[in-house]
Amino acid sequence: MKEFKFFMPTQIVFGKDCILNNADMFKTMGQKALIVTGKHSSKTNGSLTDVISALDKCGVGHVVFDQVEENPTIETVLKIKELGLKEKIDFVIGIGGGSAIDASKAASGFIKNTDKDTKEFLAGDIKTFLPMVAVPTTAGTGTEATKFTVITMHELNTKVSPCRNAFPNISFIDAKYTVNMPGTVTRNTAVDALTHLIEAYVHSQAYLLNDMIIENGLKLFKECISSLIDNEYSYEVREKLLLASTLAGIAISNSGTSLPHALGYMPTYYKDVPHGRANSLFMSGYLRLFGEDEKVNKLLSLIGFSDIQELQSFFDKLFKNDEKYTEDEIESYTDEVMIKNKAKLSSFPREITRDEMYNLFKTSLIK
Ligand code: NAP
Ligand code: ZN
Repeated sequence: MKEFKFFMPTQIVFGKDCILNNADMFKTMGQKALIVTGKHSSKTNGSLTDVISALDKCGVGHVVFDQVEENPTIETVLKIKELGLKEKIDFVIGIGGGSAIDASKAASGFIKNTDKDTKEFLAGDIKTFLPMVAVPTTAGTGTEATKFTVITMHELNTKVSPCRNAFPNISFIDAKYTVNMPGTVTRNTAVDALTHLIEAYVHSQAYLLNDMIIENGLKLFKECISSLIDNEYSYEVREKLLLASTLAGIAISNSGTSLPHALGYMPTYYKDVPHGRANSLFMSGYLRLFGEDEKVNKLLSLIGFSDIQELQSFFDKLFKNDEKYTEDEIESYTDEVMIKNKAKLSSFPREITRDEMYNLFKTSLIK
């Protein structure tokens, strides 16, 4: 067997009402919390109320930043940092989808390292963080169990993920917050989790223990496929999607994501395509690059598909991709990924040529 080093330091607390049932855990984090959320959803899905009740119950103070946008920018992160420093907070609680949680993680790094600026953040020099709690309210990014924090940098025309150890200390995972998630958000985020599982499984850094986690994630996902197609979700399916997403987060922290994520940042950045759907655009073409491959066949069978075309048909049932792309855009996206995202290229088991990258963009985006 191949040598491996597996790492997952986050305490995961899973189940209905897990925040209220474990309110004391907040006490171990500090005396004052900075809660970071998006603009609306945490106020209507019950997550913000539960967190504030738990903090009140154990006598921990709090301040709220509720202005995180989708695909959060570095400017937003720096605003959160300012608030955190002004309010002298001890720890950070990110509530929401990946956007709010990632912004909270990055801000916690900046508050802990006041001597570090954006340049040093980009260089991956922020390596320590204030204590962090995550409360996911989408079932997709797995950021509640990852070391990453994905931030939009307009000066680079893309998103960056320079942190390599931004694991939350505690993640409270309760599917009740996802019950009223709209169908489109549910599908986009579920497919993000699926792409994490797939990319981590066929990643050049894949190894047995991580694969075992992924295989269980894929099996859980299979049990949700008909609900995703019908766009109707029982509570049990909501829990399975959330757990699959957390397993996928653990998986990408230990091997990583791959080309669909690298390429997917382009439609997200330039055409506002949501993250999960953006990754799905490239999945068939990416898997075809492997040729006849035992692991690709195994992952397809674990999610119940006989071939790549069936996986593509599943995506086609979920998403309408009507954005238009020009030849010039394809050329420039190809250059951006080839030049700026060399690390992701090494996630593929062999070298990818510029022609292959161009064709992957072209066949995926121009039908
Ligand atoms: P998101 O951008 O966090 O949220 C998408 C939308 O869903 C927002 O409008 C949000 O509203 C809403 N929403 C969230 N929870 C909801 C709920 N329970 N009910 C109804 N609406 C809800 O989406 P996401 O897909 O979870 O996160 C995407 C971000 O995560 C991207 O920036 C991506 O690059 C990143 N990502 C990070 C990692 C990682 O490991 N760190 C991994 C993959 C992806 P509000 O704004 O009002 O809350
Ligand atoms: Zn993702």
